[in-house]
Amino acid sequence: MALKTGEQYKESLRKMRPNVYKWDRLIEDITTDPVTRGHVASVAHSYDMSFDEKDAYIYTAKSHLTGEIAHRWNTLPQTAEDQMHNARMKRHQYRHSGTCKGATCAGWTGMTVLWAVTQEMDKEYGTNYHERLKNYFKYVEDNALALAGAITDAKGDRSLKPSQQKNKDSHVHIKEVREDGIVIRGYKTQICGIVGANEIIVVPGGGYGESEKDFCLAVAVPRDVEGLTCVITRKPSDTREEEEGWDAPKVGTITQAYLIFDDVFVPNERVFMAGEYKYSGKIIGYFAAIYRAAIGACVAGQGDVMIGAAINMARANGLSQKVFQDKLTQMAINNEINYGTGLGAMLAGKQHESGLYIPDALLAHVNKTQVAKLPYETKVITQDISGGIAETGCIPSYKDFQSELYGEHLYKALEAATDGESRTRAARLAEWLTVGAGIPGCMHGGGSPDGAKMVVKALTKWEDYAADAKRIAGITGEIVEPKKK
Ligand SMILES: Cc1cc2nc3c(=O)[nH]c(=O)nc-3n(C[C@H](O)[C@H](O)[C@H](O)COP(=O)(O)OP(=O)(O)OC[C@H]3O[C@@H](n4cnc5c(N)ncnc54)[C@H](O)[C@@H]3O)c2cc1C
Repeated sequence: MALKTGEQYKESLRKMRPNVYKWDRLIEDITTDPVTRGHVASVAHSYDMSFDEKDAYIYTAKSHLTGEIAHRWNTLPQTAEDQMHNARMKRHQYRHSGTCKGATCAGWTGMTVLWAVTQEMDKEYGTNYHERLKNYFKYVEDNALALAGAITDAKGDRSLKPSQQKNKDSHVHIKEVREDGIVIRGYKTQICGIVGANEIIVVPGGGYGESEKDFCLAVAVPRDVEGLTCVITRKPSDTREEEEGWDAPKVGTITQAYLIFDDVFVPNERVFMAGEYKYSGKIIGYFAAIYRAAIGACVAGQGDVMIGAAINMARANGLSQKVFQDKLTQMAINNEINYGTGLGAMLAGKQHESGLYIPDALLAHVNKTQVAKLPYETKVITQDISGGIAETGCIPSYKDFQSELYGEHLYKALEAATDGESRTRAARLAEWLTVGAGIPGCMHGGGSPDGAKMVVKALTKWEDYAADAKRIAGITGEIVEPKKK
């Protein structure tokens, strides 16, 4: 079975061992619990879209392993067009739910990056990681699985290496090597889409040297593997999201999780790196190029929804779109800068010898620096257009509107060019998109903008540009970088 419907996907989650907690409570059924159902429903929508007459081409692709049509997040992007479809899918997904569908993103990217890196490792070390990965990839495709990607370690003191931390568990590491596999332990944090995932791809959180080889591991584990506990994080609008009224968005919701690996055994067939530190940086490099090119599409998709939310608020307040057109146009420009820079990175990329297509690193990292900036301006404009009720803390709760004593007065107080309930719903969405849980990790999702700037600095051809400028100016005298005094 290469394709699953949303319902079949939900069924696969129901069969898993419950190991996800929130509010110190074990979630028995992830597909129906108020804490998790929104995210699962939005991932299920992507499964259903794979059968959509009009848009299936975005959500599916031809498998490089079998030639069959599979979910896009189960296939290897081999061309610029394939990667651009990744961007189109992400923008489409955000347009649907206003937020991230983690279980069709980072884990998929991790698996495709390992496709390339395992081939490089096998060449140097004579290992058989690529064959293992190929079998795993086939398993993922055959079972139409959703994957989360765990890169970020808890890290501990940021100025120290993993091996120097007072608690080795700050980074997931190899505790024991056995003949039939490895035992891993430690913490991965802020991992998106865990509740919607069947499997988790775990890779190193950084590029490391020999002293850190215990931290250089790449594995695939079932989300419900023995020894793993997942704790879902709290968000500003959480309690509202979990109730039935209009305080909660009607589609989507994002969930991050902390992963506690407490001596988890991973059999050899699911181990794709175990100590080959020289290649840990390659995983991060390829991953960042793919992810940071595509994240422009995520924020553009959410920006599209913000434009819609701002227009609805203006109209609900009795003002026409025209009043705010200049601001709305700026929102559209911000969206397209992020989307377009990502597409540019994809077009300027190249195919790795393994077949994986990798976007251009310089443009992808430039995009990340702007993803950490422009959506925030878009959020400011959304609030500006909407008025105070879209800022946090300015609308009574759904429950108060139900009050026999004063509910009717609240409806009347919020009435403007539309009825009180419609205006309140519109404001709640604007609030959720700008200061609530709808924020798709613009700043740190996919890594910090400062990290991206370091790559831009490293890849920019400063000396070539200085030489060009000298030639154009006709300079024959010596102009050199001053020596350190
Ligand atoms: C919404 C969201 C979704 C996410 N989803 C995922 C996911 O699915 N999978 C996943 O693996 N991760 C995920 N993450 C985690 C994300 O990748 C990290 O937040 C990001 O890499 C930054 O790491 P950090 O949060 O530990 O911040 P830090 O590393 O603590 O960074 C904080 C600041 O300190 C700077 N800094 C850090 N170390 C140093 C140093 N040694 N020297 C100088 N400056 C330094 C950084 O540049 C930054 O400015 C997600 C994050 C968010 C916000």
